[in-house]
Amino acid sequence: MTTSPDLNAAGFDTLGLAQPLLQALADVGYETPSPIQAACIPVLLAGHDLLGEAQTGTGKTAAFALPLLQKIDLKRAVPQALILTPTRELAIQVAEALQKYAHHMPGFHVLPIYGGQSMVVQLRALSRGAHVIVGTPGRVMDHLERKSLVLNNLSMLVLDEADEMLRMGFIDDVKWILEHTPATRQTALFSATMPDVIRRVAHAHLREPREVKIRSATSTVVATSQSYCQTHTGQKLEALTRILEVEDDFDAALIFVRTKTATVELADKLEARGYSVAALNGDLTQGLREQVIERLKAGTIDIVVATDVAARGLDVARVSHVINYDVPYDTEAYVHRIGRTGRAGRTGRAILFLAPREMYMLKLIERATKQKISALTMPTPGEVANRRVAQFTQQVVDIIKTEKLDFFFDVVRRMEGEQDIAAREIAAALAWLATRERPLQMPGANDHAPRELASTPAPAPAAAQERKERKAAGATTKPAGDYAPSEPRRERPAKEGRSDTPVKQRSFAEGGTMQRYRIEIGRNQGVLPKEIVGAIANEAGIAGKDIGQINLFEDYSSVELPANLSDDLMDILRRIRVRQFALKTRVMEPGEFVDTRPPRRAPPAGDRKKPDWKKPDGAKPVWKKREH
Ligand code: AMP
Repeated sequence: MTTSPDLNAAGFDTLGLAQPLLQALADVGYETPSPIQAACIPVLLAGHDLLGEAQTGTGKTAAFALPLLQKIDLKRAVPQALILTPTRELAIQVAEALQKYAHHMPGFHVLPIYGGQSMVVQLRALSRGAHVIVGTPGRVMDHLERKSLVLNNLSMLVLDEADEMLRMGFIDDVKWILEHTPATRQTALFSATMPDVIRRVAHAHLREPREVKIRSATSTVVATSQSYCQTHTGQKLEALTRILEVEDDFDAALIFVRTKTATVELADKLEARGYSVAALNGDLTQGLREQVIERLKAGTIDIVVATDVAARGLDVARVSHVINYDVPYDTEAYVHRIGRTGRAGRTGRAILFLAPREMYMLKLIERATKQKISALTMPTPGEVANRRVAQFTQQVVDIIKTEKLDFFFDVVRRMEGEQDIAAREIAAALAWLATRERPLQMPGANDHAPRELASTPAPAPAAAQERKERKAAGATTKPAGDYAPSEPRRERPAKEGRSDTPVKQRSFAEGGTMQRYRIEIGRNQGVLPKEIVGAIANEAGIAGKDIGQINLFEDYSSVELPANLSDDLMDILRRIRVRQFALKTRVMEPGEFVDTRPPRRAPPAGDRKKPDWKKPDGAKPVWKKREH
């Protein structure tokens, strides 16, 4: 089966998914199935084997995770599904995704197992029972051999990123595992490419698989000028606002994100930064949707943050920019999106944000649009300041040309005489006054010379940055992903919107009980443990010594704090903002915390075998680390 993306695709409710899963999808704000999901979910629900050609970013995890979850019998805490992934990072990511989609399946338990993690911990976790195992081939094999993992009841097996497993030298382990699982199981194999070796594995181990491949768009020549900006997720908002400031001929922008929730979140953040903006998503009634479009046409708002479905057919001539804030699932969606600019004979401009692991989309889009997409780097604070100074200068020049200023000449002359100050000083003070609401310099820009570009260091990958911070804080002996401050932070990090009045430190009983709290900011938002500590210490007055382990996950984190905090303090903790995200702190439910931290130690032999230079496809095996 070959499918093409269909922007008129119906929602998830037409695919045969059960209510708890539909509820979880509504919670995470997915509006429509991605093409690979629309194609795979019914096939897998019907019990067929499946061979899917799909890259990361297409939504393939949910494509297999949702049908898999639907088939789980929660009453039997034995492994009913196994997902093999090439790396522990992917294993963790997939386990987190399953946990998210199973939010309304009480008692559901997924266990990631991978090389490098303590065997003792894994054996204990396995003995407690899990419905789904997500693991790397080497470690899964170890457990099967030790009989600590028994797969007699396995009804579904997923091979995720099969070509990656091949490249990493795991293919023999994968075949071994396939041979040691019940032949009655349903099997799904996903791979970004389909080399012969993978096809042979599929032929030998899959039963009449249905093939799903997302056809790429037919080439279209577009008139829009296109650029891309490579950024890590945590830097995207900053990059977006800086780019919007320095772009030439900016009139209005349509910004595309993937989820309904993201439309509202991003619109809120842009509004907080002074933009006139509205969200456009499938939850809006037709009337409200039209209102947003009318406001955009009339110029009362300049930015609309939309999902693909909600922006379908939108035709507003003043949209000068289309921003692909979240990368589209495929090239056809991209072409649809950028078709919303360059209307009424104007030249449009399209900007695409790509995380390092999404860079493969670039070539595909260039091929589909028959055009080179130029690289754009995040403007430095100095560049932004230069642009603001240029705009301010133009305003001053225009006022001198158009306004009658005689009265004001007198005011200035009087100031010069009475106060004995030079006109240049008066002008500088007035410039400061005039730009007080929107300072010409960005925080971090060079203090003195707007014409000199103040450099911002290239964004360090979150993990490296985190290591640096941990080291600086003296936390050298803590296990991976954990952060326990060595001493209370006294200084208040300079953050927007924080008052400078010191907060009274609270005291808690020495050695008192600690509890795990959940906060709604995580790795994807680029947060660093020291920022969490700083905010909690400074805003809530909880001393660093009373703040325990911090574990960062994709979109949230856990923090250990004293148990049974007062309602007042909980209220403060809920409202504290870090990187503009309200922490919405709450106590974690028992069992909610899944310790999926990758170990810091280099993994031993288990999963990371020595490269074998004579792999069947002749490909050079490499140890590849997934980007986050
Ligand atoms: P994947 O290709 O599975 O790694 O998914 C890529 C990203 O797309 C993940 O962040 C998912 O949460 C997100 N995603 C997957 N399916 C959908 C959907 N139907 N609507 C919006 N976002 C989605």
